[in-house]
Amino acid sequence: MIHNTKYKLTIGWLYPELMSTYGDRGNIIALSKRCEWRGIKVEVKKLDVGFDHKLLAACHLLFMGGAQDRQQEIVSKDLKLKNKDLREMIEDGIPGLYICGAYQFLGKYYKEADETIIPGLDILDLYTENPGENHDRLIGNIVVSLGGVSIPPLRWKNTMVGFENHGGRTYLGKNIKPLGKVIKGFGNNEEDGTEGAIYKNSFGTYLHGPILPKNPHFADYIIKLALEKKYKKTIALSPLDDSLELQAHEVMIKKLK
Ligand code: GLN
Repeated sequence: MIHNTKYKLTIGWLYPELMSTYGDRGNIIALSKRCEWRGIKVEVKKLDVGFDHKLLAACHLLFMGGAQDRQQEIVSKDLKLKNKDLREMIEDGIPGLYICGAYQFLGKYYKEADETIIPGLDILDLYTENPGENHDRLIGNIVVSLGGVSIPPLRWKNTMVGFENHGGRTYLGKNIKPLGKVIKGFGNNEEDGTEGAIYKNSFGTYLHGPILPKNPHFADYIIKLALEKKYKKTIALSPLDDSLELQAHEVMIKKLK
């Protein structure tokens, strides 16, 4: 087996204390382990409220999880101070995965159930509104097809499975593509069948679960993007045995059909 031992990645984990719901920290574990198993060195930088914005520039991959509205309000104030750095990194194609509340932050705004507006970073052409207490939260297991969207065919599957729990409904503008199409579940909103968003190498999604251990093919896609961006060449990842993950994926898809 080839080992990718000469490589090293620094992962910036944005707001691990406040933005981490429904197992989102599992994504950092999946990224780190899948690198380690291949001999790729990983450093995870925890970037909590008040972090020095200069730390971002040393990161090759960014990750931020979801949160309840209250935590989002706190984080949004700190995030505003990092808008310029984050925008530059996203525009430059630094890979990033942004789940649920974090995904909402990348858009123009998130309107809470009580109509409080949390301004977004306005990097992605999208906005999110929670229609209020008379509407159910969008909760449950979800299956998404990545077919026909901007990601090239993934190693063993073009579906993703996950778990969603959000009050906000996200609507995409003309300048942004969805990450996939909902096969089962709600996704961005319960109306248009889209899920998540993709812009350059940044991915926004409602999939908790956590997404990466459940979808190791997508985890590898992101790791490969980060390595290729850093080392400026095509890199083949050493194969790992994902037979158990694949079986779990198939079971979930069958169960939800
Ligand atoms: N608070 C946001 C919402 O309800 C995001 C939830 C989450 O990140 N799970 O839509």
